[in-house]
Amino acid sequence: SVPLSYFSGIGAASRRGILIKGGQYLETLNALEAVVFDKTGTLTAGQFEVTAIQTGDGFTRDQVLTTAAAVEQQSSHPLAQAIVRAAGDQPLPTVSTQSEVPGQGIIAEINRQSIVVGNRRALGSIAVPPLQETTDTVIYVAIDGQFAGVVTLADRIKPDAKATIHSLKQHRIQSVMLTGDNQHTAASVADQLGIDRVAANLLPEDKLAHVSELEEHAQHSQRRVAFVGDGINDTPVLKRADVGIAMGGLGADAAVEAADIVIMQDEPSQVITAIQIAKQTHRIVW
Ligand code: ADP
Ligand code: MG
Repeated sequence: SVPLSYFSGIGAASRRGILIKGGQYLETLNALEAVVFDKTGTLTAGQFEVTAIQTGDGFTRDQVLTTAAAVEQQSSHPLAQAIVRAAGDQPLPTVSTQSEVPGQGIIAEINRQSIVVGNRRALGSIAVPPLQETTDTVIYVAIDGQFAGVVTLADRIKPDAKATIHSLKQHRIQSVMLTGDNQHTAASVADQLGIDRVAANLLPEDKLAHVSELEEHAQHSQRRVAFVGDGINDTPVLKRADVGIAMGGLGADAAVEAADIVIMQDEPSQVITAIQIAKQTHRIVW
């Protein structure tokens, strides 16, 4: 293939639907020690389906589902959309206040009762009985300080995700997955894809800390770290990474703004395309 200057490297990328906001990022792509991926919406499609509902003592399935759907109506999180869809045309209770906690879930009020819908962390000290083990994403529902039940949801891995991780290995670039989702789900996705390192139960600020640590390590050998995310709960880390890569450029404005590289298609393999273009560019510059 033909060597490219920085300028034509950016042009070649743009013809493939990859927007690179400066020549320096081609250099960064040439010096990668690790590529860090967000899970939901990045390696997985972010298209959830409700798979099961389990209830706590004294609560019904309908109560768990309609409570969750009522508070999720205002949320744009992919989990929220699936929960609302699953409630179908059942009447939903009226929510008086609602606020979303990034990477955790939603706290709300219905009929003067406090509602929590989110991950285990969002429930805080509320007691939860032993639940059936699953590799699905588990969303807990608490009503008035009591565990009411869980909604489990399955996502699917993107078709090109496995080949992307394999290709990184061939380039001797480490693959890392960070997620706010639970350990079981994270480990299952990481195993299926052959990811080198995985960390789960992370808050947005924990993702930042992980990327900073990886960057510090890479710096010792003059190497860099990329972060790839879809912009939902990960704009801070897109901004912070040596090179922040946002996927699905037609969606989240904040992500497009925060990122150094924007991938228009929702395909992680476009990261490999960008690295290959950067490699060709490299040959003529140095
Ligand atoms: P990821 O790190 O996999 O991209 P997020 O950071 O968006 O995921 O969310 C992490 C976790 O926080 C989710 O798996 C879910 O448990 C919880 N969560 C986030 N937003 C919501 C929401 N709107 N409703 C319920 N749970 C949520
Ligand atoms: Mg995310």
